[in-house]
Amino acid sequence: MERLKFLLLALLAVALGACQPQPAGQSDGVADSAAETAAETPVETPEEFVARVNAEWDEVGPELGAAYWVRATYITPDTAILAAKASERSLNMTNRIIEESKQFVGQEMSDDAARQINLFKIQTSMPGPSDPEKVAELARIRTDLGGMYGAGKWCPEGKDDDESCQDLEELSEVIDKSRDYDELLDAWIKWRTVSPPMRDMYERFVELMNEGAAELGFDNTGELWKAGYDMPGEEFEAEVERLWSQVNPLYNELHCYVGAKLRAHYGENLVPAGQPIPAHLLGNMWAQQWANIYDLVEPYPGVAQFSITDTLEELGWSEEDMVKSAESFYTSLGMPALPDSFWTNSLFTKPRDRDVVCHASAWPLGERGVDVRIKQCIVPTQEELLTIYHELGHVYYFMAYPDLDNTYRAGAHDGFHEAIGDTINLAMTPGYFKEVGLLDTVEVSEEATLNNQMMMALDKIAFLPFGKLMDQWRWKVFSGEISPDEYNQGWWDLRTEYQGIRPPVERTEADFDPGAKYHIPGNTPYTRYFLSFIIQFQFYQALCDAAGHEGPLHECSFYGNKEAGDRFWAMMQKGASQPWQDTLYELTGTREMDGSAIINYFEPLMGYLKEQNDGQMCGWSGG
Ligand SMILES: [Zn+2]
Repeated sequence: MERLKFLLLALLAVALGACQPQPAGQSDGVADSAAETAAETPVETPEEFVARVNAEWDEVGPELGAAYWVRATYITPDTAILAAKASERSLNMTNRIIEESKQFVGQEMSDDAARQINLFKIQTSMPGPSDPEKVAELARIRTDLGGMYGAGKWCPEGKDDDESCQDLEELSEVIDKSRDYDELLDAWIKWRTVSPPMRDMYERFVELMNEGAAELGFDNTGELWKAGYDMPGEEFEAEVERLWSQVNPLYNELHCYVGAKLRAHYGENLVPAGQPIPAHLLGNMWAQQWANIYDLVEPYPGVAQFSITDTLEELGWSEEDMVKSAESFYTSLGMPALPDSFWTNSLFTKPRDRDVVCHASAWPLGERGVDVRIKQCIVPTQEELLTIYHELGHVYYFMAYPDLDNTYRAGAHDGFHEAIGDTINLAMTPGYFKEVGLLDTVEVSEEATLNNQMMMALDKIAFLPFGKLMDQWRWKVFSGEISPDEYNQGWWDLRTEYQGIRPPVERTEADFDPGAKYHIPGNTPYTRYFLSFIIQFQFYQALCDAAGHEGPLHECSFYGNKEAGDRFWAMMQKGASQPWQDTLYELTGTREMDGSAIINYFEPLMGYLKEQNDGQMCGWSGG
């Protein structure tokens, strides 16, 4: 397949990581039951309780982390047992701690103890019921769902050898690069044969988690998920809506423009005006980011084109070289070098002889999470390079806060954790690539700017409605608003409403299309990515200000700027030890998440899109 030419600046971490799950880890090993512990430790102040819990997690964290790591890097029935056991023990421990914390309700305590005790309650995205049998069942389902996704393959009838079968990597290769409608459709359908067997399991999964959430005092699991943002759940939901309404006009213009270009390529019959776009034509298995179809929508063909992918090949960079390059951005800001253990323990290449979860992720293992690692099946492309920089954002966050209590070793909110590396990605301007020898010349012109902005928008703007709807679907599933017999329809209703896309073939309730996206079987909340895409522009703007940047925002790189680095590092060191509003304020001078930085960034493109869309039939009411 011919390699696509890519513009710089762009191609941002398409593989959004499920990086960095829980703080440290969780398991059992201290006391067998809540009753026993309570009986043995009758007098404990809330502060002492909090200190003990942190110590318990620190104690068991390394072992749990090891079980999850080996499961993700070696998918076998044996590691399934180990991971399910670890997960079960961690759930039981969480339940016991929550049970123990109830004795402090209404007691006088420090703000810190109150904050930590609240965080104990909401630190898991998979709340388990107190019944140990149900906990075991929940842990087993979670492990099985993850395994089904990780080892997922389409195989022809009666054959299941590696030659005949196609996995996500191979099918994505088609979706990312082909321009043939039927070939794309074939790959799109094949990947979605992996998920129907998950459907009944997922229904039970939801049931069990809701039971667990109810025991914690939440109406359902969705309410628990929304509780992690230092504000009431309904306020948080309104915040997400407000942010979406800020960026929605930009998405609509992009959708209209891209739809017209696809129509020009595939024809009016296949991509009718004023209707949702068929989901398999956007260069991504989930139509979540569209950079792969850049060549079809490029405003000024041929202007400022370059391919870091080709350069990587010419230079003969190894996987390790690519990771070193990412590290050097962070150290240029004054942050420390990665520890030796990172290089020894990380997984950089896809093993030939076994199944692994290739989805890129970052891990805080070992004592206080200092055995930091990434797991990524790196291939030498520009896209993968940007993903490495993204994953190292998590790793540097881990490295910034090992001294905090276990409970606080997390992002200010989970969107912060995702935004660190992406903020760095934004600063990887053509000028940066030239500086590090990955680009010969930087072309400066209005045409070049618009091409660059288009490439960026295909990732950063196209993603927003998808980032929002993933959890909208789950919030509705958890609350029962979408019932199990409407799982698939409910999914496509949201996909059409927000993204303006439609399934290319008829779907029924025998399908389970949400399950074909990693974070659904992986049970990773997703609003964090939506928030990250908003706040990373806020971070970027703040760091550019700190670096004294003048001129249009999109031209700023703070590479090598210690002032910006100090500000960023200071923010990361705070972890989750205070409400995120305070942390955001310290970095940006505002206490609210705000879409205006993203609008500011894309001002040139917005003008161009409006001009191009003039007279076009925009929107998708016809769907
Ligand atoms: Zn991530």
